[in-house]
Amino acid sequence: MMNTQLTLNKMVERAEQLFPNKEIVSRTSSGIQRFTYKEMGERTRRLASALEQVGVRKGDRVATLAWNDHRHLEAYFAIPSMGAVLHTINIRLSPQHIVYIINHAEDKVLLIDQDFLPVIEAIKDELKTVQAYVVLNDEMELPESTLTPLHSYEKMVANGNPNYQYPDDLNENEPAGMCFTSATTGLPKGVVYSHRGITLHSMALGLADTAGLSESDIMMPVVPMFHANAWGLPFAATWFGTTQVLPGPQFTPEVLAELIQSERVTITAGVPTIWLGLLKEFENGEKEYDTSSLRAVLCGGSAAPMGMIRTFETKYNIPFLHAYGMTETSPLVTVSRLKSNQEDLPEEEKLAVRAKQGYVVPGLEIKVVNDEGDVEWNGEEMGELLIRGPWIADEYYNDDRTQEAFRNGWLHTGDIVTIDEEGFIKITDRTKDLVKSGGEWISTIELENALMAHEAVFEAAVVGVPHPKWQERPVACVVLKPEAAASKEELLDFLKPQFAKWWLPDDIIFMDEIPKTSVGKFLKTKLREQLKDHLKV
Ligand code: ADP
Repeated sequence: MMNTQLTLNKMVERAEQLFPNKEIVSRTSSGIQRFTYKEMGERTRRLASALEQVGVRKGDRVATLAWNDHRHLEAYFAIPSMGAVLHTINIRLSPQHIVYIINHAEDKVLLIDQDFLPVIEAIKDELKTVQAYVVLNDEMELPESTLTPLHSYEKMVANGNPNYQYPDDLNENEPAGMCFTSATTGLPKGVVYSHRGITLHSMALGLADTAGLSESDIMMPVVPMFHANAWGLPFAATWFGTTQVLPGPQFTPEVLAELIQSERVTITAGVPTIWLGLLKEFENGEKEYDTSSLRAVLCGGSAAPMGMIRTFETKYNIPFLHAYGMTETSPLVTVSRLKSNQEDLPEEEKLAVRAKQGYVVPGLEIKVVNDEGDVEWNGEEMGELLIRGPWIADEYYNDDRTQEAFRNGWLHTGDIVTIDEEGFIKITDRTKDLVKSGGEWISTIELENALMAHEAVFEAAVVGVPHPKWQERPVACVVLKPEAAASKEELLDFLKPQFAKWWLPDDIIFMDEIPKTSVGKFLKTKLREQLKDHLKV
């Protein structure tokens, strides 16, 4: 067979050629803007030539601090297609972590949404390698800023060469992108994506048994483009000619609901926190939304509570698709779709299967191991999930922590799972979040899901708290729905029939809000810190 190179320039070139009139709908600070793939393709070429003008060369890292909008999408293609490396920075990291990752990646140019100029201005003196800044906004005039040299993105695009040709000697194994996992403890760890990895991952997103992304979809990524490349969706969507709806800055559940309605979105993607917020918007009943266009809500990043899936599907007729992955895995690893032999199961059982993280997508391999070796596929025995495949990282970028996670050709995920007879994995915890009570493991995710199925509970996070006798015991932190009421005893009674007695939380603490990480997951390190003496007295 021919060994042609799987490189990202081919994706955007295909979109320009085959889908010149399909649209990218971008919400920016000044409203909704629309671009065709023809325009987007041309702007991308102009941007690449302009970046060359400011000194970007093959292999250089060019970073973005940006929302999900059309400019970010153009950067997604211009930077890798010219042979440079797109480094997407998580805008919610602490300033110290942002300094660390920019210096560690040795970024040469930063593309910064004007909303985040103050973040970079405050740390500019600590940045060792940055040679130029580019501000992303709708205007050509530069805003007031202490950053120098500062360029206007729109001016660069306007002055760029619309006929710029991408180099034709890109090798598919060269780096195209990089992203740091937010790592809830310690410094962020860098993952480098190759052209080949991103291309094969994109292909996987198009399979009917995964997300089935297609030209006929209208795709809205709510997951940020700085978080595992918005799960790779913008790459795949551009390649396939899918219409994209990019929700832009500071969106609220209301904004998302309105975009779904007005743009007739067919598939959207994000973490459970986003969907819990959207559910709140639906439930408060002030406005009615037409969401009938939706064929799938891709939900991952943390466990999708079964109660939430049920409400969306039965009450609002919005189908959920639960998926699992990590920054290290591009990220798609498993999708929870029923197999044809499971279609006849009772509704509740089907829901329970679909609330699992699913089985491995074609192209990857997984196994689950504990101290004794491979665990049995019985849905009960727990072990660590190991993954390998062509879109799985094989190291952390210049980082000693590589050896811990990448061993014997497998990525050791740190996720503790069970795997059932059909190969569906179920994440019971991350190694560091498991509660170990009297030597036995308790899954915090299962307790959380059970609590979140109670009608009064909006969110629940369970953490292990040091205990004088049992080393650790689970304590639940619960946020109630507005105007709902439930006592601690009531919630414990609700859990009792579902779990062994020793699994039940020693305490339930009511809170106004659960602290979250920069990507919207429960910040369990903080809860553990807050509660560390809670059971000692
Ligand atoms: P971070 O380390 O900042 O959370 P990632 O987004 O890479 O960054 O997180 C990957 C982790 O998220 C996985 O290792 C797993 O623990 C968790 N995760 C991802 N998807 C799911 C899911 N569907 N259900 C439960 N946990 C998930």
